[in-house]
Amino acid sequence: MPDSAKMSKNGMLTTIHTRIRSDPFTANYELVGRELGRGKFAVVKKCIEKATGKPCAAKFLRKRRKGEDCRMDILNEISVLESAKANPYVVALHEVYETNNEIILVLECAAGGEIFNQCVADNDDAFTENDVIRLAKQILNGVAFLHRNNVVHLDLKPQNILLTCARPLGDIRIVDFGLSRRMDKITEVREILGTPEYVAPEILNYEPISTATDMWSIGVLTYVMLTGESPFLGEVKQETFLNISQVNVDYSQDTFEGISSPAVDFIKSLLVKNPRKRATAEDCLNHPWLNSLPHPHSHPHLHTRSSLDEPETSQSESEPESPVPS
Ligand code: ADP
Ligand code: MG
Repeated sequence: MPDSAKMSKNGMLTTIHTRIRSDPFTANYELVGRELGRGKFAVVKKCIEKATGKPCAAKFLRKRRKGEDCRMDILNEISVLESAKANPYVVALHEVYETNNEIILVLECAAGGEIFNQCVADNDDAFTENDVIRLAKQILNGVAFLHRNNVVHLDLKPQNILLTCARPLGDIRIVDFGLSRRMDKITEVREILGTPEYVAPEILNYEPISTATDMWSIGVLTYVMLTGESPFLGEVKQETFLNISQVNVDYSQDTFEGISSPAVDFIKSLLVKNPRKRATAEDCLNHPWLNSLPHPHSHPHLHTRSSLDEPETSQSESEPESPVPS
């Protein structure tokens, strides 16, 4: 079969190498504890592989959504996970099961949860700038890998970036390849739309999407991780869209108090309207901000919150400084 015949329309790849098992998932895994999370069409639950005792995350995907057969979308998600197997920052896929109504992806468990939780935390759990530098490098390493393989994620946001461990702060795992596409095969973007706050201007304008589309989202993500604020979020969706298309961003001293100027410069290199002028993942990995020495210990959020917040005290001594790998 020629390569093109394996492609369904719109950049989806539906040929997969993982065996789809039809024996019952529950014969091999025991569901434990609460739900790990959920999205629009999926529920993710923690489970233990009976044979090994290994904790995993099972993502249950409905094959029919709004009366439409979505099996191809799920195969595309599996295919992308397969193609990123060699990168440690993309969540690992162990097995796939299929029932009448669902496909179950058995994934590596990222026990630390969504980075979202620490983005909105205004206490000890909030990221320091050094944390963000270390995590941003890992996100960029994963995304650069995808981009080198002609894959765009198209839904990078704090809910889809997980941590192996929350305390002490672990490493990142990129999840949710439900909207991902092969770059060279995209024909139509109309129905692909991520979360309003994180989408790039070209998506709103139905202009061609590219790897640069993910880079915009990384700019938003970095902004949120450093400041705890969503740069484009408006009262209503229309306001958010207007803020995005006008690149209406607050870079004030007030918002970025306690945050280094190379960090602001890094974000500015990504929140650029013209996708061709936006920094690439490789550009970002070479940016001075990510290659600087550790900054004096700082909790960006503490500086931007009310004066009722406790000043940094003994915490700096009790918490080891994040190593900044070269
Ligand atoms: P959706 O496509 O429905 O958004 P996701 O793949 O994003 O589904 O999963 C929904 C949520 O489940 C995530 O935001 C996260 O909180 C949780 N989750 C997903 N995968 C894992 C995993 N491997 N380990 C731990 N939690 C996960
Ligand atoms: Mg998701």
